[in-house]
Amino acid sequence: MSSKVVTRFAPSPTGLLHLGTYRTAIFSYLYAKKNNGTFVLRIEDTDKERSKKEYEENIIESLKWLGLDYDQFYRQSDNLDRHKFYLEKMIKEGKAYISKEEAKDGTGEIKELVRFKNPNIDITFHDEIKGEVKMNTTDLNDFVIARNLNEPLFHLAVVIDDFEEGITHVIRGEDHVSNTPRQILIQRAIGAPTPIYAHLPLVLGADKLKLSKRRGALPITSYKDMGFLPEAILNGVAFVGWNPGTDKEIFTHDELVKDFDLSKVQKSPAVFNEEKLNWFNKEHMKLLSTEEVNKNILENLPENMRNVKLVPIIFERITKWGDIKNMVSVGELDFFFKQPEYDKSKLIYKNVQSSTLNISENINKAISVLEELNENNFTKENVKEVLMKIADSLESRGELLHPVRFALSGLDKSPDPFVIAEVLGKNETLARLQKAI
Ligand code: GLU
Repeated sequence: MSSKVVTRFAPSPTGLLHLGTYRTAIFSYLYAKKNNGTFVLRIEDTDKERSKKEYEENIIESLKWLGLDYDQFYRQSDNLDRHKFYLEKMIKEGKAYISKEEAKDGTGEIKELVRFKNPNIDITFHDEIKGEVKMNTTDLNDFVIARNLNEPLFHLAVVIDDFEEGITHVIRGEDHVSNTPRQILIQRAIGAPTPIYAHLPLVLGADKLKLSKRRGALPITSYKDMGFLPEAILNGVAFVGWNPGTDKEIFTHDELVKDFDLSKVQKSPAVFNEEKLNWFNKEHMKLLSTEEVNKNILENLPENMRNVKLVPIIFERITKWGDIKNMVSVGELDFFFKQPEYDKSKLIYKNVQSSTLNISENINKAISVLEELNENNFTKENVKEVLMKIADSLESRGELLHPVRFALSGLDKSPDPFVIAEVLGKNETLARLQKAI
């Protein structure tokens, strides 16, 4: 038997899937790639009413964005012929049977269902995460495996498809543990080998309840829209319930493939922390080249604000590209482009008893040293050097630095005055200081 690893991600396209679901995709992908194996995407769309094309498209877009390339693609609804083939075979061999039953909807209508002939035995299987799992199948009765020969139900379709697609490792959410004995019974009935199972512990939200869309868990594409980096989401989500056992937290795609280890997946439920995702994103932003940072920041600014000198100031204040739009919309950057209006009493450095007179005196001193600087040398370093000389001669540096900063920005909180001066340039800086006086 070939030992090539084949894993799959088998989502049902019945909604926009959230991070918790993609963690399953990430682990299946990493496990396959780590072992030079094959990663399969199978869209489980046999529930005709609830499955929608747009959700399938969203799954494909999300995997692509995350960089989880699949080697094979299947759609379960394309496999109805082989489902039927096995159903008929099982019926012929007495392992399943057609049962005529009254519909439960109260219409009294008689329906034909296909039931599995349950041998009522103990099923034991090894789970890579949970260890040995044992269940008695008697309580499952002769469970239904198809509505009719053309409409297979979940357990049957999963087992046949996993078998036909050569899946060796079924990595999926813990909610499927209780389905596994039924699926193993079907495997035995059709002569399929039992794959290796790994059931991943639940993902909980900050409130320690199961992460769900209803309680605020977002689809992957929302993170894309918010301007997160795909590598950061990949890294951050991989760390929900897994870590390499070292202090290293920042991993690129290739490093994850290299270091991923199913045996290090934690056994208890994992808590997803949205804040931590911002941290991962910022760390990944720091790995980008200056050109990439410049490009992304400038692209997210309105055209009239695209000044490359703003890049470091903005970079320091954001955790994702989408934050730039917020900075712009609340007017946080406006003072770079127009003279601020402000309450002049705020020019006074608040912790120091100083008269208005020496504030204007101090600003005047600043003007005279800045006038000496050449327009071309008006850099934050040079501005800092000349201003600090004056500031250091005062009782408190704030007596100079506060009024200068405030005169330039008109804001209680802003970047330091040297940085602002460089962005504004010599003329505008002097004009604002004059106005303050
Ligand atoms: N289609 C199933 C789901 O979305 C997953 C089936 C499986 O992984 O075995 O939950």
